[in-house]
Amino acid sequence: MTGSLAIAGLGPGDAALITPEVSAALNEATDVLGYTPYVGRVPAREGLRLHPSDNRMELNRAGDALKLAAEGRNVVLVSSGDPGVFAMASAVFEALEGSPEYRDVAIRVLPGVTAMLAAAARAGAPLGHDFCAINLSDNLKPWELIDKRLRLAVEADFSIALYNPRSASRPEGFERALHVLREAGCGERLIIFAHAVTTAKEHIETVRLKDARPEMADMSTLVIIGNSATRRVGRWVYAPRRAS
Ligand code: SAH
Repeated sequence: MTGSLAIAGLGPGDAALITPEVSAALNEATDVLGYTPYVGRVPAREGLRLHPSDNRMELNRAGDALKLAAEGRNVVLVSSGDPGVFAMASAVFEALEGSPEYRDVAIRVLPGVTAMLAAAARAGAPLGHDFCAINLSDNLKPWELIDKRLRLAVEADFSIALYNPRSASRPEGFERALHVLREAGCGERLIIFAHAVTTAKEHIETVRLKDARPEMADMSTLVIIGNSATRRVGRWVYAPRRAS
């Protein structure tokens, strides 16, 4: 039996941003696995088994997906946004490293529109020059590393996209990040809070970093901090193409 595993990104929320490639994989799937709210975005149909699971179960979920594919099922493992950006694709390859019996499973990684790109498009072009992305979740890395990366990103004058800025279990992390950024001299920089982009709850707010408050971000917010040249033109925010 030859099954398959597609690791697919559902985009930031709007169904119009699901790629045709991902839609085709979902249409051919026998099984869809993923974090409960993401599986909830996949329409039920005859012959499709949905396997929602809890957020913290990434490695188990990846192992389950590989096992089902090895049994001959056509499995799609869904993430929001892009599956390779702070999401399930890495978990699958970690599981594969630990389980050589699955090395022959046909795996495909299907890209999606990551939150950072959807957020940037709403604001204008804040990622139009060099930028980096940092995951503020300290579940899998120490805060010291986040602190170091924030400071070095400022020193390199990158625009910075922050994923997972704030959650109920780590309410203080984003406040610490704002403190580090102010200490690093970013008070005058523009900071964009892009909440639930491309959904009915979308809300975008741009302020100077010195005026930013921790409550402006929650777990559905993608934060973009401009570089030192990022500016406004009318209602838009953009990073000029030239840097010195
Ligand atoms: N793989 C996903 C990211 C998963 S991490 C992607 O590529 O987008 C989860 C974080 O992504 C959230 O805490 C938030 O920072 C961001 N995010 C996901 N969807 C979002 C949306 N519609 N609007 C704003 N931020 C979003």
